[in-house]
Amino acid sequence: MIVAHNTVVSLSYVLYDADGVLIEKAEDPLVYLHGGHAGIFPLVEQALEGKAVGDTCQVRLTPADAFGEYDAELVRVEARDRFPAEVAVGMQFQGESSAQGEVMVYTVTDIADGKVVVDGNHPLAGQTLNFECTVAAVRAATQEELSHGHVHGAHGHHH
Ligand code: ZN
Repeated sequence: MIVAHNTVVSLSYVLYDADGVLIEKAEDPLVYLHGGHAGIFPLVEQALEGKAVGDTCQVRLTPADAFGEYDAELVRVEARDRFPAEVAVGMQFQGESSAQGEVMVYTVTDIADGKVVVDGNHPLAGQTLNFECTVAAVRAATQEELSHGHVHGAHGHHH
């Protein structure tokens, strides 16, 4: 079976930054529903179309293709007393929704002088990434997965 519309694809992958520095090596396979279900970056999906188990892909992702450009307006300075006592740099909080209605995740980047700096950018926003992957498995999606638009079972949604 090859990667095609409405197949469930398992990938092992490694993510590098533009200088070739390792960012993330997947411990578990990434499993997604192929065919425009927003399960993975569109450019990676394009590169995988027609591939079989054991095939590899290498895709260079600009910020726009991956986690977006860095947006300085997503950095906010808030009063310290709005946060739990144990607040620390690196903690993440869900914040108010964006204009698109998504829940934003803010990461604490600095704490000083009774203020907390939070950044709503994805940690990899603004970065060009090199995504290298190997196809570990391909199977047909079930009707239920197709109607939900995501993968069920191991490494997928449980509900
Ligand atoms: Zn579901």
